[in-house]
Amino acid sequence: MTRALVLGGGLSGVLAAVALSRHVDEVTVIEGDRLPDGPRPRRGLPQGQQAHMLMAGGAQALDQLLPGTTARLYAAGAHRLTMAGHILTLSGEGWFERFDHDAYLISCSRHLIDHVVRQLAFRDDSITVIESTKVIALTGDAKRVTGARVEHQGGEERTISADFVVDATGSRSRAPQWLADLGLPQVREEFLDAGLAYAGRWYEAPAEAADGLPAVLIQPEPRSGRPGYGAGLLPQEDGKWIVPLIGTRGGQPPTDGDGFLEFARGVRHPLVADLIATARPIGEIRASRGLANRRRLYDRLPVPEGFLAIGDSATVLSPNYATGMSLAALGALSLRTRLKNHGLTPGLSRQVQSDIAKLATGPWRTAIGNDRWFPGVKTNMKLGGGGFQRWFASRWMKTAAVDPKLLAATYEVATLRASQSSMMSLPMLTTVLRGPRRGPLTAAEALARFPEFDELLAAVAESAAAERVTG
Ligand SMILES: Cc1cc2nc3c(=O)[nH]c(=O)nc-3n(C[C@H](O)[C@H](O)[C@H](O)COP(=O)(O)OP(=O)(O)OC[C@H]3O[C@@H](n4cnc5c(N)ncnc54)[C@H](O)[C@@H]3O)c2cc1C
Repeated sequence: MTRALVLGGGLSGVLAAVALSRHVDEVTVIEGDRLPDGPRPRRGLPQGQQAHMLMAGGAQALDQLLPGTTARLYAAGAHRLTMAGHILTLSGEGWFERFDHDAYLISCSRHLIDHVVRQLAFRDDSITVIESTKVIALTGDAKRVTGARVEHQGGEERTISADFVVDATGSRSRAPQWLADLGLPQVREEFLDAGLAYAGRWYEAPAEAADGLPAVLIQPEPRSGRPGYGAGLLPQEDGKWIVPLIGTRGGQPPTDGDGFLEFARGVRHPLVADLIATARPIGEIRASRGLANRRRLYDRLPVPEGFLAIGDSATVLSPNYATGMSLAALGALSLRTRLKNHGLTPGLSRQVQSDIAKLATGPWRTAIGNDRWFPGVKTNMKLGGGGFQRWFASRWMKTAAVDPKLLAATYEVATLRASQSSMMSLPMLTTVLRGPRRGPLTAAEALARFPEFDELLAAVAESAAAERVTG
């Protein structure tokens, strides 16, 4: 009988269990937390209260692993938003044009995504979850991992043996230490920390927005020399909005009610502040700090047989790029593909670890290439001068902002439907070098392309006036 052990029952862990389930007799997931039986918050997923956008590439991978996932999300009220048509974006290099293009993201609560994934995954009887149990060590030696040492809530410890062990314990994974304890060299880690922090609040949208509203993303400017300030508004299920405020070192958003509104009004455009003035806040403002880019270079280790690190345990990207869940799904998909082709054979760990590293390379480069310019960045990487790269990235975005063809290609990459190399064609590079064909959109021009916002603000003002008359 063959057994796989998955450490951590978050999104990566559950998806890895799904990928493994057809290729071993049983999969055991060890989770330190208790998993709720509905779309509800839990202690082990503190970021679950913040805005989570699921990129198209990740959504497609989820459907391949668990057919019907996105259909269930939509049925539960998730929104499919095309980047070009349903999101008003103020990028670091100006307002983006509105046009018709299919690159999309799914907007709903993180809790709904995890709940639907768990519902579908745990229909498989070969997957068992042991909750309230912490992994404390790996067993085996430097050549092969053979299981894990776990501690149940009451303090009882035991060893669980397995033919394959997946670490999916997230960004604070202790796997580097556990592997070092087995005699492996310390895994190299790279980080770049712009001091990014989130403050997030949920709102009940006004009745006038019942037919839906486009989303707003006001992104922080990485190359201005000032801290980055951003704000967003994303429609969620059940007529709710989630509003993330974002700031980098020296400009982190506050978590008190007045400070939150003031920050929203002070970002580069006050639209988010105007919109939330029409809505009713629900619950507290939640903060998330310490949101650095961090990757552990497991693929450069002499990877032991029977071990794999997946999801945030391998690469954590600044949430600004909204790629973590998608990389988790794409990583699990590459595990499934390798298992389909070769089964649990020697070399599997090395191959999948290398696939996972490659999947994250493009998003990592994008994140580092932007975040390195925020003031006060801390990093252990040698980044070089970057003068040309800085000029080119800025030129690219300025051109794309008013060139739908170039912006569509950028969106394909941002939503993980295409690789970065797809943007390196001669016609595209020529377009960028030639630069924008017209001046940037003004705020008034960009807003005129999304009349839904003005219409909502006018309708709410009208209802309030009518109420004053009748009241
Ligand atoms: C503020 C914020 C906003 C984000 N926004 C987005 C977004 O818009 N889009 C997007 O795609 N991604 C986003 N992300 C990233 C996303 O949250 C992560 O990439 C994703 O949760 C990674 O899943 P994971 O399963 O690898 O790790 P986690 O979700 O961290 O799960 C790890 C699991 O392991 C368990 N665990 C930990 N240690 C142990 C142990 N010793 N023993 C047993 N169990 C253990 C934990 O309880 C948890 O259940 C955001 C992140 C943050 C912080």
